[in-house]
Amino acid sequence: MPHTENTVATALAGLRQEMLKAVADRKVTPLGPTRTPVLIGASKSQPKDVLEAAIRLGLEHFGENRVQEAAARWPGLKPAHPGVTLHLIGPLQSNKAKEAVALFDVIQTVDREKIAEAIANASEQQQRKPAVFIQVNTGEEAQKGGITPQMLEGLVRYCREQATLPLVGLMCIPPLAENPAPHFALMYKLAREHGLPELSMGMSGDFPAAIRFGATYIRIGTKLFGPRPA
Ligand SMILES: *Cc1c(COP(=O)(O)O)cnc(C)c1O
Repeated sequence: MPHTENTVATALAGLRQEMLKAVADRKVTPLGPTRTPVLIGASKSQPKDVLEAAIRLGLEHFGENRVQEAAARWPGLKPAHPGVTLHLIGPLQSNKAKEAVALFDVIQTVDREKIAEAIANASEQQQRKPAVFIQVNTGEEAQKGGITPQMLEGLVRYCREQATLPLVGLMCIPPLAENPAPHFALMYKLAREHGLPELSMGMSGDFPAAIRFGATYIRIGTKLFGPRPA
């Protein structure tokens, strides 16, 4: 059963508590402005009324995995809620770059030059520049998006110097079956090396660890909205 406004409210309050506790346990100083991490509601496949309930409860950041799904609901929702910031947290194909630039405020999944270039071209055409994160495949998993840590430096340089994108941070999804802590620690190190203030890491199962290692954005789905409808 999807959550109702009441259950989302309870979940949100609980999450905020756990976030503060993890902030108090931080092992590192966040690289960006020191603040409580920003909570992004990962809203893939949740019904629109659950999103509206979350907005009424004060949630301001949402993450969508598919351009198509986001395009089906946010253009109807966003004008009424100008405070909402929309993040793309799923893989992006270059033929969807135009649509993504038009729709999203932040694109977190840049992982190759071709995508960076497509976003840069669309940004130029639309005079609209979403902030960008590079996704890092810290576990080097074949089925997962993201650039390998070894290749990151070249892509950072490309985004800054060639594509001139507003690159602000790094994003990762650690391997499911592993302890995420070493992955988060590596992300912190990489972000620091490249002078990137923001780190998007941590999901329902591992966000306290991500915060302890310097996450500035966490992306929460099931723990906030309930199980995803099949
Ligand atoms: C679905 C998803 C999340 C949220 O996952 P939960 O485990 O449900 O919190 C976070 N990030 C990405 C990229 C996702 O696809």
